[in-house]
Amino acid sequence: MSEVVVIGGGPAGLSATLNLARALVDVVLVDASRPRNAATLRSHGFLTRDGIRPTELRSLAKEELAPYENVEFLERRTVTSVRRTPDGFAVDVAGRAPGQEQSIATRAVLLTTGLTESLPALPSIRAYYGMSVFSCVACDAWDLRGKPLALIGETDDLARRAVHLSRWTDDLTVFTNASPVVSDEEEAALAAAGIRVERTRIADLEGERGAVRSVLLQDGRSVPIEGGFVRPGWTVATAFIDDIDPERSGDGFLVVDEGGRTSIPGLYAAGDVTVPGPQQMIIAAGAGARAAAAIVDDLQSSAVAARGGLADARG
Ligand SMILES: Cc1cc2nc3c(=O)[nH]c(=O)nc-3n(C[C@H](O)[C@H](O)[C@H](O)COP(=O)(O)OP(=O)(O)OC[C@H]3O[C@@H](n4cnc5c(N)ncnc54)[C@H](O)[C@@H]3O)c2cc1C
Repeated sequence: MSEVVVIGGGPAGLSATLNLARALVDVVLVDASRPRNAATLRSHGFLTRDGIRPTELRSLAKEELAPYENVEFLERRTVTSVRRTPDGFAVDVAGRAPGQEQSIATRAVLLTTGLTESLPALPSIRAYYGMSVFSCVACDAWDLRGKPLALIGETDDLARRAVHLSRWTDDLTVFTNASPVVSDEEEAALAAAGIRVERTRIADLEGERGAVRSVLLQDGRSVPIEGGFVRPGWTVATAFIDDIDPERSGDGFLVVDEGGRTSIPGLYAAGDVTVPGPQQMIIAAGAGARAAAAIVDDLQSSAVAARGGLADARG
């Protein structure tokens, strides 16, 4: 029986696994190996790794885990369900090839499966996403500073996002794609700050080789830009724990305490699956380390309590 199964090998899961490994915890890391940031060539804002390729960051993390004999890394495997058992949990895993199915018994589970995102439905958006159109302003606006930019979205926070983004450019157009998400009052306030609002439905993005050059509107007008940001919709990638049913926010994010503990004893979560703050790799990695510390404390407290010692050995 393993002590912890970590589900998801992004920054949160890799960081948690490293810290669990160093606490002598037997840990199995299961990763479907489909990172959300695969669309981008370079990741920014991770201390000592600014501008690194996302795949390289993962490779470096895997190299660091390799010497730890108490870590088993199941790559390209997908967790299909997590069930509660008298001793903890049973984690069902499927591979990409037949015969790779297995069930892992474990005391605790850490969910770090991140998000799946849906982009505004524009025919060519995937050709530019991660190249010159991004979703994370903190990660990518610096590289587009001072340029004519688009902010495209259909979420209620669009005006606030525009104000935030205007720190990096004074040539910003907000495209609502004909959705009613920017009020007249907000439009007036944005106009006073020099930010234009375009309410016409978008036909597509235009450009070449990943470099967006204009937003083509359905009325035939074309608005020149040199980069842009979108507000995607997000789905928390945890349908496989629906039977356990931990507490979630209204948007489906997992509700956790400061140590990543969900409402289900023994079930932890970290990174983008938890109630959102900034979605950045270093924040996910930090949350993974915090969850690892809480798991180690909880495992050790139970072990000591089972031997009749202190009920709570947390330091
Ligand atoms: C285009 C783009 C660019 C970005 N650029 C930056 C940047 O420059 N700097 C920055 O700091 N952040 C950036 N981000 C955000 C950053 O990628 C995320 O905040 C971060 O990766 C979240 O880490 P995580 O570990 O929570 O989840 P993820 O990195 O999403 O990792 C989740 C992992 O879980 C796996 N998984 C999912 N379901 C299962 C399952 N059922 N079984 C097994 N495994 C599963 C996935 O395959 C994936 O490998 C970017 C995001 C995007 C989309």
